[in-house]
Amino acid sequence: MNTEEIIALDKDYVMQTYGRQPLALKEGKGAVVWDVEGNPYIDCVAGIAVNNVGHAHPRVVEAICQQAQKLIHTSNLYYTEKQVRLAKLLVEVSPHQKAFFCNSGAEANEGAIKLARKYTGKGDIIAMENSFHGRTITTITATGQHKYKKGFGPLPPGFTHVPYGNLEAVAEAITEKTAAVLVEPVQGEGGIIIPPEGYLDDLKKLCHENDVLLIFDEVQTGFGRTGEMFASQTFKVTPDITTLAKAIAGGFPMGAILASEEVGNAFQPGDHAATFGGGPLACAAGIASVETIRQEGLLQKSRENGLYFKNELKEIFQAYGLVEDVRGVGLMLGMEMDMPCAHMVDDMREQGVLVNCTADNVLRFVPPLVITQEQINNVIDHLDEVLVRVSG
Ligand SMILES: *Cc1c(COP(=O)(O)O)cnc(C)c1O
Repeated sequence: MNTEEIIALDKDYVMQTYGRQPLALKEGKGAVVWDVEGNPYIDCVAGIAVNNVGHAHPRVVEAICQQAQKLIHTSNLYYTEKQVRLAKLLVEVSPHQKAFFCNSGAEANEGAIKLARKYTGKGDIIAMENSFHGRTITTITATGQHKYKKGFGPLPPGFTHVPYGNLEAVAEAITEKTAAVLVEPVQGEGGIIIPPEGYLDDLKKLCHENDVLLIFDEVQTGFGRTGEMFASQTFKVTPDITTLAKAIAGGFPMGAILASEEVGNAFQPGDHAATFGGGPLACAAGIASVETIRQEGLLQKSRENGLYFKNELKEIFQAYGLVEDVRGVGLMLGMEMDMPCAHMVDDMREQGVLVNCTADNVLRFVPPLVITQEQINNVIDHLDEVLVRVSG
């Protein structure tokens, strides 16, 4: 099928929930993807910060193929070696001691909220304005953006929102019923918003003074995106609970909740479950992906290439008045424009570069961590061409 035929069938048979690009993808390798017509694109979206080890990484491919031939699913009525090995690996690379496996970011956040309520015996959750935590009823409630909630009420009670980066607002919002504060260490969908200096550290102190748990939603920031395995390590602040998904299994669907020993032990047999959670196929992909990040120096690549990319974007910022700001950490970068940037996404795609526009006017660059400096130069050249045209 060609692109047109695929788009026509999508229209006929798929619920039209996505504002998709007119592009049908067929293959990928490293930081490049090809459409069904065979055109290559440098991928600065990476499936929205998912393909951190690059497309079709041989270790992930082999792990999936080998596992699929043996055992795809068992249920959590039984143990598997793959699940305990991935749990041990995640504990080794994170500041936590216990893992629970599920299938997506929203599901991880739902579970983290349950865990916080079970551990504290309290119900209320403080979340941030401009945040994003997923699309289930509870996670759109936790999300601090009206557009995701509109038309889907009634929403569950127990959630309040405070401005991101404002410690005093959190202090004022905490009551004796507060179970946890839920925060993305760097806001992703909200437009790559970096926390003010010392904010996360102060937030942790504030939470602990008030017997409130701190939950980091690292669904987007996890697995090398910010230059360390987790943003909690980049910002040197250890939360009580971390939620993960996106890049955890190299593109294979999976989510996880990590917690301290004490908090994790609040879940007792029967408290929480997921039929597919931590299945052997997902865990095999997860082990391969996390080991690849660790053993192939991808954290260092994220830091070095991220700095290089950011500096190149800053030169663009200096050259064009249309650019309001360049910000980010590791390979989680945003370029804020003084106009909606959806059309720039189209222009870039026509030049052979995939980027995405978030928060209306922020071009988001979250490429595979294996992107090369040559590919980054290429992206910058095309961005330059597009901006010359837009300015002119
Ligand atoms: C993508 C994302 C989610 C939702 O993950 P899904 O797997 O789509 O449910 C939650 N939180 C953050 C910070 C995200 O970026």
